[in-house]
Amino acid sequence: MRRFFVGGNWKMNGNKESLEELMSTLNTASLHEDTEVVCAAPSIYLDFARSGLDSRISVAAQNCYKVAKGAFTGEISPAMIKDCGADWVILGHSERRHVFGENDELIGQKVAHALESDLGVIACIGEKLEEREAGTTEEVIFAQTQVIAENVMDWEKVVLAYEPVWAIGTGKTATPEQAQEVHERLRAWFRANISEEVSDSLRIIYGGSVTAANCSELASQTDVDGFLVGGASLKPEFIDIINARA
Ligand code: PGA
Repeated sequence: MRRFFVGGNWKMNGNKESLEELMSTLNTASLHEDTEVVCAAPSIYLDFARSGLDSRISVAAQNCYKVAKGAFTGEISPAMIKDCGADWVILGHSERRHVFGENDELIGQKVAHALESDLGVIACIGEKLEEREAGTTEEVIFAQTQVIAENVMDWEKVVLAYEPVWAIGTGKTATPEQAQEVHERLRAWFRANISEEVSDSLRIIYGGSVTAANCSELASQTDVDGFLVGGASLKPEFIDIINARA
């Protein structure tokens, strides 16, 4: 019932030459039709990605600002993202939170404005290693989810990405059991705090060192509805990840 969703987060990587090669590999690949595929390009390459990728693949921005326009040097708005033909935006990624200091309040405002502007939102949450070790994983991710939820009217355009910070770019993937445990608790949170319908239909995807080697087992977990992939999304193995669900 929940369509499998695989996002590739290119982060600040690639140039026109390497991205063209990646896009042509994706365009000619056989991709599972039941899987929704989205590639998040650096904002300066949004147009380039949209014109280079096959229409089976949607394009996302990696961030946006909370208002439509104005004196905000260096920022981009959801309207601009849409104008480049992209349909999604990643918000609240751990690198935005922890490298660039974005807090829950700002992320919530961005979520609200992106949804009002009719963009789909890949909203990211996740605990740091010290939080997991201190036993506060649930507290942290529920608090992050709460602020996102306060800014969502219609959940149809939202995908929630659980990305434990300790697993991002580290090669330390959460085990399928660890991912399933958190996803299941998140789904229970939605049942208790939003609605049964949203809890059943919301796609909760996992991110953090997903590779061709570990994706099938993760994909077989009941509450894992897809992935947000960084490093491996720049390689041909991204195709195996897209096709992870048998
Ligand atoms: P990774 O990144 O796959 O390189 O760990 C995931 C992400 O940051 O979304």
